[in-house]
Amino acid sequence: MKEIYLDNAATTRTSAAAIKAALPYMDSLYGNPSSLHSAGQRAAEALAEARGRIAGRLGCEAREIFFTSGGSEADNQAILSAAAMGARKGKRHIVSTAFEHHAVLHTLEKLRKDGFDITLLPVSERGLVTAKQVEDAIRSDTCLVSVMYANNEIGTVQPIAEIGGVCRDKGVIFHTDGVQAVGHLPIDVKKENIDMLSLSAHKFHGPKGVGALYVRKGIPLATLIEGGAQERGKRAGTENVPAIVGMAAALDEACENMRRATPKLIKLRDRLIDGLSAIPHSVLNGDRDKRLPANVSFCFEGIEGESLLLLLDDKGICASSGSACTSGSLDPSHVLLAIGRVHDIAHGSLRLTLSDENTEEEMEYTIEAVKEVVAYLRGMSPVWRDTTSGKKEFIIK
Ligand SMILES: *Cc1c(COP(=O)(O)O)cnc(C)c1O
Repeated sequence: MKEIYLDNAATTRTSAAAIKAALPYMDSLYGNPSSLHSAGQRAAEALAEARGRIAGRLGCEAREIFFTSGGSEADNQAILSAAAMGARKGKRHIVSTAFEHHAVLHTLEKLRKDGFDITLLPVSERGLVTAKQVEDAIRSDTCLVSVMYANNEIGTVQPIAEIGGVCRDKGVIFHTDGVQAVGHLPIDVKKENIDMLSLSAHKFHGPKGVGALYVRKGIPLATLIEGGAQERGKRAGTENVPAIVGMAAALDEACENMRRATPKLIKLRDRLIDGLSAIPHSVLNGDRDKRLPANVSFCFEGIEGESLLLLLDDKGICASSGSACTSGSLDPSHVLLAIGRVHDIAHGSLRLTLSDENTEEEMEYTIEAVKEVVAYLRGMSPVWRDTTSGKKEFIIK
């Protein structure tokens, strides 16, 4: 049985182009970019070239790109930097949203314990926040607004340029976690008034454990890792040259493919959404249109997400329930709770995230498989029996 991989929001296959670009930097070109000899200088040149190419894809300057170990580190560094700068001016208020990635939420939680005041904006039932909400939340002591570009569970895309405009007008630093967006949506950090943006290579067919933070020039970055003078003294440690070169190749490829791949992905996505919507007492999570081209997220009443995933895995389908539930935690997803799903419904979630490698046949197979598994699990559920017999009301009509 061929595996059908529908968990591209968790991670993607490293593309052949990324591997090909990275390999020489583990083999013949293994120099340390800090070394003065020619082997080192070749590595330094590769690093500079990768930085320039990534900057070009985002619409910024090479010196505004700082390499990190991935999206989580970039989020941490962005938020802690803005907080440190704010604290120096007596500004200790941060605006963010209830459905950010934990790399953002847990960093904010740490700052809250350090005396920062954190406003987490509520998210609409369709998984969106507005620039007006951000505007109303900004105070004279606000030092940072952090709103994710696209949500990793429900795929909704936020009005980033508008939010950036509000922040620019108010003189507040605007960070966006762009991990799900970079390589998937066209991005121009200058046009969109973004001050800081986090990205991660393994979400766009690059290697794992490498990412970057774009920081608009003039904004001082705090150092999280002390040591050598790499990344202009802001992030010590010998650079992961192969991974960085692979990341640049992957981003080039993703951006070049975008115009062709996006309509294909939207077609596959919409077929899945239509097919799964036919399951009774199911609901799509997140706005139907303002969502990533490759994201499908559903809740099914009377279902326990973990069982659904295991049975789909038996049918060769790699899917996800969203986030926390898959990592063994019994808490329902904070994202699904944020859009107003009650606990029982949030537990019955399914996230299918596509890539250019998926096919129409795979979508048809997946629709039938989900229908079958949902019917099977409902057939075994005493709660479902109570609901269908009228003892309990349906939550999803
Ligand atoms: C995956 C992800 C991260 C974390 O990125 P890593 O590179 O895995 O650390 C952060 N934010 C979002 C939205 C993500 O999807």
